[in-house]
This record gives sequence, structure tokens and C-alpha cells, in this order.
Amino acid sequence: MKIQIPLFLSADLSALLSTLTHHPYHPYHRLQALLIPLLLGGLLSLSSHSVHALPKHNPVPGGICILPLAPTIMPKPQVSFAGKRITTVEDNGEWKAVIGIPLDTDSGQQQLTVRNPATQQIIQRSFMVKKKQYRTQRLTIKDQSRVNPSGAHLQRILREKQLKTQLRQTFSQTLPNFNIIRPLKGRDTGRFGLKRFINGQPRNPHSGMDLAAPIGTAIHTVSAGKVIYTGRLFFSGNVVYIDHGEGLISMYAHLNKIHVRQGQALAQGEVLGTVGKTGRATGPHLHWAMYLNGAAVNPTLFF
Ligand SMILES: [Zn+2]
Repeated sequence: MKIQIPLFLSADLSALLSTLTHHPYHPYHRLQALLIPLLLGGLLSLSSHSVHALPKHNPVPGGICILPLAPTIMPKPQVSFAGKRITTVEDNGEWKAVIGIPLDTDSGQQQLTVRNPATQQIIQRSFMVKKKQYRTQRLTIKDQSRVNPSGAHLQRILREKQLKTQLRQTFSQTLPNFNIIRPLKGRDTGRFGLKRFINGQPRNPHSGMDLAAPIGTAIHTVSAGKVIYTGRLFFSGNVVYIDHGEGLISMYAHLNKIHVRQGQALAQGEVLGTVGKTGRATGPHLHWAMYLNGAAVNPTLFF
């Protein structure tokens, strides 16, 4: 606790500086952006979290595996899983891999590649993925064109699918802060991992969490990061993607308004937009997704 407070104070200071430089023309948002990180920083520093807290270890499809690799007196290992770079963080004197497990991963043993950058030595490490049964959710969407899109839309959908894959696989060198906050207080109406049927037709499992809230409710960035994309997509509507570093990405969909722009640095808690129902949505809600090494993981593992 004694170490935590100064760290949060310095985070708040950088939040203040970044909001001053990034919101010069929006006094209302600037005020919100100034106050929220201060309030949240104050609340968090009273909680039992530490700055470098790790997400929960829950090695199931859609979960996270935390694997100790080596003592931190060794150089930081370079880790990959299924061809993707893996974030590796220092925790209690050890380097630990924080692995996002894709929802379609088979249960059983999985292999991780660990490279020592000093010696170039490569070793294989294994970890176990446990079985997990997700529930089924049936949804009715009135706008048929968003359930069975016409030929004219298919090309756009395919292009956007590739864009989304690319965005969630972003890997930058900044160390992520895993102390994540909820983007808003809202009713949880669609849990992560639900097997979905839309108008009776099977669809991909739910890759995020749905939080119902009235149109216009402020959405806060869950951790400090950089905006890597804003735009309007066919299914997701108005979206914002934020890169938190080393493969940790957050995504916010169906927004009414977007208040940030690509390339902008955000402090934790800053308002990035408001709740809406753009794209394929049954009603006003935020679809919030968290990605690790390109895999959608259960957001509740972060708090
Ligand atoms: Zn959703």
C-alpha cells in the first residue's frame, strides 16, 4: 500500500498532462477527463489491487493462463503461442507469461515457445487447457439485413472481418496495466462466451460482455492506452479499439458518439464515447471485448 500511492499519483499526473494536451477544444470533456482519473486513482489506491496485478488464472477456452517462466535475474523471455507474441510481465521476482486462450481451443495440453534473447535458446513449455461449457443465448434481431446480409454487404463484412483480426492482433512494446476498471456501470445482459443463435441461426460465440445502459451514457477506457482505431462497422456500429500494450487490446462497440481519435493517448477512466445501438444491436448497450494475443478473453478475469 505504501508503494502504491505514489505510483498512482504519478499516473494521475501523466493523466492530467495527457488530457491537457489532447482535449484543448472540448472544455466539458476535458473537465470529465481531468476528474475521472483522479477519482478512480484515489479509489483504486485504497483497494487491495497493486499496480502490476495480474488477471485471474483460469486456463479454459476464452480464459487466461498465467505461467511462471524464469526468475527476473534472467533476461526477459520472448514467448509465443500459436504463432502469436505473448505478453510477459514481472511479478514477484519471476517472468510470467499471460496467455489469452482462444474460445475455439481444444482442452488438453498446449505448447508455448520460449526464447532466451541472450542465448537464442528456444524451449517448449506446455500448459493444460481445461474444459468449459458456455451457455446458449437466443436473440431476435428485427433488421433481417443485419442477420442475413445481402450480397452488396458481404464484401464490406469480409473486409471488416480482416480489419478486426488485424486490430486485435496488435502488439506494441508498452507494458500493459492489468488493473482494469469497468467501462460503465450497467446491467450485464450478455455474458462472455455465450453460444449464440440469432433468429434461430447459429453464430460465433459471444466474444465480449454486453452492458445495458441508456443511450448517451459515458464509456470510460478500462486502462491507459492508445486509440488504434475508430470507425463505423457493419455489425459493430461505431467502434473504438484501444491498445494497452503487449497484445492487450480493448474494444467498445455500438457507440452513439465517439469522443476520441486514432493515435490519441488515453489515461485510465477517460471518456471515449457514449452508449448507443449502432450496428447489429437489439437495444442500447455497450459490447465490450478484451483481447490478449489476438484471443477474445473473458473481461471478468481482470477484476
Ligand atoms: Zn455483445
